[in-house]
Amino acid sequence: MKEVLKTEVAVPLPIDTTLTYLVPEEFKDTIQVGMRVTIPVRRKVVTGMVWRLYRDAGKQRGLKAIRQIADDSPVLNKELMELAAWISEYYVAPIGEVTAIMSPPRPELKRVYRLKACPGDLEIEIMRTTHPTRAEIIELLREGKPLGMDTIKRKVGSKSVAEHLEALEKEGQVVHEVVARKRRKPRQHVPEGGVAAGRDASNERFELTPHQQAAFDGIRSAIDAKQSRNFLLLGVTGSGKTEVYLRCIDQALKSGRKAIYLVPEIALTPQIMERVRERFGERSALLHSGLSNAQRFATWRMIMAGDIDVVVGARSAVFAPFKDLGVIVVDEEHDTSYKQQDSPRYNARDVAMVRAKRAGAVVILGSATPALESYHNALSGKYGLFELPERISGGDLPEVRVVDMRLCEDPAPISEEAERAIADSIERQEQVLLFLNRRGFSNYVQCRDCGLVPRCKNCHVTLTYHLGGKQLKCHYCGYAERGWEQCPGCGGTHVEYVGSGTQKIEDYIAEKFPGTSCARFDRDATRKKGSAEDLLTDFSSGLVRFLVGTQMVAKGHDFRRVGLVVVVSADVSMNLPDFRSGERTFQILTQVAGRAGRGDIPGRVMIQTFNPDHHSLSHVANHDFKGFYGEEVGFREELRYPPFAGLVRVVVEARREAAAKGAAKQFAGLAMHHSKNLKGNLDIIGPSRAPISRIRNVYRWHLLLKGERTPSLSQFAKTCLSKLRMKALDEGARFAIDVDPQVMM
Ligand code: ADP
Ligand code: ZN
Repeated sequence: MKEVLKTEVAVPLPIDTTLTYLVPEEFKDTIQVGMRVTIPVRRKVVTGMVWRLYRDAGKQRGLKAIRQIADDSPVLNKELMELAAWISEYYVAPIGEVTAIMSPPRPELKRVYRLKACPGDLEIEIMRTTHPTRAEIIELLREGKPLGMDTIKRKVGSKSVAEHLEALEKEGQVVHEVVARKRRKPRQHVPEGGVAAGRDASNERFELTPHQQAAFDGIRSAIDAKQSRNFLLLGVTGSGKTEVYLRCIDQALKSGRKAIYLVPEIALTPQIMERVRERFGERSALLHSGLSNAQRFATWRMIMAGDIDVVVGARSAVFAPFKDLGVIVVDEEHDTSYKQQDSPRYNARDVAMVRAKRAGAVVILGSATPALESYHNALSGKYGLFELPERISGGDLPEVRVVDMRLCEDPAPISEEAERAIADSIERQEQVLLFLNRRGFSNYVQCRDCGLVPRCKNCHVTLTYHLGGKQLKCHYCGYAERGWEQCPGCGGTHVEYVGSGTQKIEDYIAEKFPGTSCARFDRDATRKKGSAEDLLTDFSSGLVRFLVGTQMVAKGHDFRRVGLVVVVSADVSMNLPDFRSGERTFQILTQVAGRAGRGDIPGRVMIQTFNPDHHSLSHVANHDFKGFYGEEVGFREELRYPPFAGLVRVVVEARREAAAKGAAKQFAGLAMHHSKNLKGNLDIIGPSRAPISRIRNVYRWHLLLKGERTPSLSQFAKTCLSKLRMKALDEGARFAIDVDPQVMM
């Protein structure tokens, strides 16, 4: 049989392999690995990634052909394709799902038309008598350039151009092809005040402190040697970590290499971008999912063309298509936002290290509260470790007080002690940050007579009261109902708003401190594009005196005039059913405490809690990460949790609870049965009902696999799953495998 061109396409569907297609003659000169194509799969047309191209004379019958090529050049280079393969394997995710999230948004496509054969003048003259519009179209196309429908319509000025083109195509005079619409250069937000057009080489604005210098020297030697090494920079907020990152990036750029700077939240990118632009000028760009498709696509192309040196972004920026990477910075490396919660469930921090290793680049992980795993790796010598133990300003770390809410008689959200401190701060013209780990007006509503609490009909989680629309809302599925005036259970009217949400605190403050301006910073208040930035600007400039916020305010912001931070309740994270709840509590409280006293004024922090003896709190109060680590690592070792074990979480979802439970049990049984194939011991925790036991009417069960190391453990989970699939699953149960899980809900 004759050899033909075939392609293996990675498709974003829950399958383990790529799919094979024929490449039609017309595409054989343009198609390349790393381009997207549209292909028929069953009755649908989907977009996939050209994974492999090859010629063979094997079976052709039954093979379908690709429909169209969606890119005019590859969007993933070889290095990224290899990284995709690693992610797919390690995180047990379909390769097509991985290449899909790695790729920029698809360019818009358009059809362009050209002549198949060029008719002579006489033919056109004849046509003009019968079909004047067609003749005109042909004349236009005779100029040689393929034209889009819109252009033809405009030039011909007839409404029926589409029909005529179709007829001409049928007759074989005209053919069309599909190409990407051309884009203009991206416009990116440039901070106001103007930036120097070129690079600002004046690194020597100030001298590095001895600690910064030591860190920089250590990391620089790895960069200069093109050695791929990971470093952990452990430093409290304001200790000058960012300055070290920027100098290291500068070092890489000096030798013609590129850099990626990751931050956990899109909301943090503008302020980092400002510092990056100031230093590195126009050859830096933002890359994250908050940009428009056109901007992202254009930025992607500029990076590929070598026009960009530094990219700042959240999680997905780790895939920026640089060829010659020198440094990846992962700021606040412990942050769970680096882990994607949907398939592919990758952790950008860990992917950064894998990518850097292949590229001979350096990774700098930075945090005041590193993940236990990271610090463990640093202590064991796997990562280089540098510490910045002092704040640059020399200012003391804030004084932290734990307020025992059990002693408060009044059920007000703010204790008397905290209220006095607030009044004090106001008097001194300082700003105050009130931190709360939840949204909404009130945590939940409860009937005082019968105890009924409204829950979501789909998800079984308690509904949150939102003052905006006087509504009770589900934070998982968005279900909403009217706020209760009467209890639907007993008809009683003593409905109480329990707990305190950001909105309620905002109102409380407005009432207690009339005349002082107060703003709220949470996902509700910042949903609109740009509103997060505006709010932060107002607060930074001192226009707003109080800021009430959820964990969005805890991250990274450099407020200079905050004298007091009040943690309204520390209890939410303590009580999470998660082996990391102690670590999370320590991290979030330390971080929010770090917002106080960053400028010239000394900072104070008050942590309100019903659980003042929790082991994390004393370490927060002493700003003692190492003390916390020492205590926590003992628990982990004893109970065999990371970093002493690999962990894979399996979540099973089904419309019927019995189906979810049954499938989870089957999985556990199968894993037990095959565990002798696994190196080291396998522990299975569960199966049990997931803490969020129902979302959108889907029941959820889960189990945890603990084994020696993750790569082999994730392959083990994958094998179990494929065996289970073969055994024909109980009706409609779906499995999700989460390797190195960060969230246990
Ligand atoms: P971090 O990233 O650890 O929070 P930054 O790098 O943002 O700390 O530094 C905090 C502040 O100190 C910034 O305003 C920065 O410009 C300034 N700074 C950093 N390094 C120095 C230094 N060596 N000398 C003087 N000021 C510095
Ligand atoms: Zn719900």
